[in-house]
Amino acid sequence: MTTTSQLCPLDCPDACSLSVTVEDGRVTKVTGDHRNPVTAGYICGKVRRFPKYMYGADRVQRPYIRRAGVSKEARSEDPLKAFREATWDEALEVVTQRFAGVREEFGGQAILPACYGGSNGYLSHGVTDERFFRRLGASRLLPTICAAPSGAAQALTYGRMPGVAFQDFAHARLIVLWGMNPSSSGIHAVPFVKEAVKAGARLVVVDPRQIQLAKGADLHLALRPGTDLPVALALANWLFEHGRIDEAFVAASVVGVTEFRERAAQWPIARAAEVAGVAPQDLETLAGWYADASPALIRCGWGVERNRNGASAVGAVLALPALAGKFGVRGGGYTMSNSRAWTLSTEPVVGQTPPTVREVNMNQLGRALTELSNPPIKALYVYDGNPASTFPDQERVRRGMARPDLFTVVHEQVWTDSCRYADVVLPAPTFLEQPEMYRGYGNYVLQKAGAAVPPVGLARSNFDVFLALCDRLGLSREGDVRDVEVAARAIVAADPDGERIWRELGERGLAVPTIGNAPVQFGDLFPGTPDGKVHLWDEAADAEAPAGLWGYQPDPATAQYPLALISPSSADRITGTFGNLRAKVAVLSIHPRDAKRRSVGDGDGLRVFNALGELHCVARVTDEVRPGVVEMPKGVWDRETSSGNSANALCPDTLSDLGGGACFNDARVQVERRSLDG
Ligand code: SF4
Repeated sequence: MTTTSQLCPLDCPDACSLSVTVEDGRVTKVTGDHRNPVTAGYICGKVRRFPKYMYGADRVQRPYIRRAGVSKEARSEDPLKAFREATWDEALEVVTQRFAGVREEFGGQAILPACYGGSNGYLSHGVTDERFFRRLGASRLLPTICAAPSGAAQALTYGRMPGVAFQDFAHARLIVLWGMNPSSSGIHAVPFVKEAVKAGARLVVVDPRQIQLAKGADLHLALRPGTDLPVALALANWLFEHGRIDEAFVAASVVGVTEFRERAAQWPIARAAEVAGVAPQDLETLAGWYADASPALIRCGWGVERNRNGASAVGAVLALPALAGKFGVRGGGYTMSNSRAWTLSTEPVVGQTPPTVREVNMNQLGRALTELSNPPIKALYVYDGNPASTFPDQERVRRGMARPDLFTVVHEQVWTDSCRYADVVLPAPTFLEQPEMYRGYGNYVLQKAGAAVPPVGLARSNFDVFLALCDRLGLSREGDVRDVEVAARAIVAADPDGERIWRELGERGLAVPTIGNAPVQFGDLFPGTPDGKVHLWDEAADAEAPAGLWGYQPDPATAQYPLALISPSSADRITGTFGNLRAKVAVLSIHPRDAKRRSVGDGDGLRVFNALGELHCVARVTDEVRPGVVEMPKGVWDRETSSGNSANALCPDTLSDLGGGACFNDARVQVERRSLDG
């Protein structure tokens, strides 16, 4: 039995360091270690179950090729009914021949990668895969399913300035958790929030659900989904009207205040409260507390962005600390993504400048697969993602993936819902079966580790498979980086402090950025905008956003579909990852008032529907969601609903105001009781 130090590269802000026990060549236990002082020896329940995930019956252990004549729409629990076993050589040859044929007949842009954050590691994403698709001249998939509106808002306002470290939450006297549920994702912030509260800090939760931390909060604002923008503007307007702007800070460090103020002035507290469905006194209370408190911290989450107003909403929330002068003290300011603390780059490994090619917004994959022409998408390569489950407008995505003339490769660890649509399925290793290097986007650490165990079955890494495909398609060139360790070194070398970082990675597997692991905003960190100031106005963004910058687009609810369906993160999966371990039927949480109106009781079968489709699940009647809102966790797999789909079947593929982000929380639905037998 041995124990090794590893890292978790899953799509989570925390970047835990892990202690992995290996017996007889198999991982038997995964827990936390203390190498990363912030994650401090404990991890989430999701990853504690990792051995079950690695060695479960769902694991893809070898390559498979679709049997001739088996429809992609046929559903079966047994993949061997649709696929036959193949060797790697045979499978890669099929992929090579089909990709070469598509490229010759339709051009490279008829090929599309479909990937996202199955692993955020530097060595499995954006390296040889990127080289392969760039050299093919494939259409480019825009990675917009998460964080794109937030990224656009942060780029516009602060030039992506990193934020307050988790450990500094403990210093705050007021913490606002806005659209963020750390108990489900980002659990290592929770002890620091509790420490601050124990020391007398006020806690405010802004979320349509009564999340765990809302239960002990001083104030819980259960906003209607999509109304964060008017609420943030109303708070800003209150600060202006009550003379609580930090005039000195604003004069020195903020531009565009006049234009921002004009837009904010359209939102007196009473109007915003009415739109958001909360008491005006509660908004007044928050405004007053925020103005008075120091250090005051806003932890802005990704729940704020997942709607038509997403980017403006995030920008308006992040404008508050600049207007009220909350920076320059430990524990004061905001936290969103801290990834910009690093200037590492995978470009030296890619070794190919990006070609000018067609861009496809991943939130409109279904549209791309069913509507694009000149050329149509004829080949799809799915890796680090499960688009059949996790992308908006699920029925259209599936119609596209089911096209008999579409050649689809799925490189996966387990038999996901996307595998059903594959022509070739390739086995992928988990992060414990390959070397990996990863930086947190909440936690200020970079870690590197070798494989804990050999790959399960015949699994081969992205890095390796894309090298092989480059070779087979004649895309490899002399001088290409072909070695993972050389790639890691090159990625780190892109940081001006690369020598030190590389040395520390070698010595202890962990490094912190040059600015340290707990920088202070406007102390150690400053905006990355060209003039180093906070920008609250931008002409181009104003022209691009459908209602103008900071402009509110009203709720899309109709009399026919009055309920807002939200699909937030949950404690047992990371988007779709680990969905295969769920045995239970998916539930839809509904407020007692809405349930009563529909004669729905706890545990009843439900039909949830809108013009895009319907899904069948079970009711959970609870006042943990506000009236007018129903909730189903994101990442539900087919097996969890009797209709074989998820909330994404009801989610439009419309885009956020800026950044092209997904509008998951703009789904509006109706709910009715349905026999569980039907
Ligand atoms: S998913 Fe997040 S909390 Fe869980 S082990 Fe990974 S980094 Fe830690």
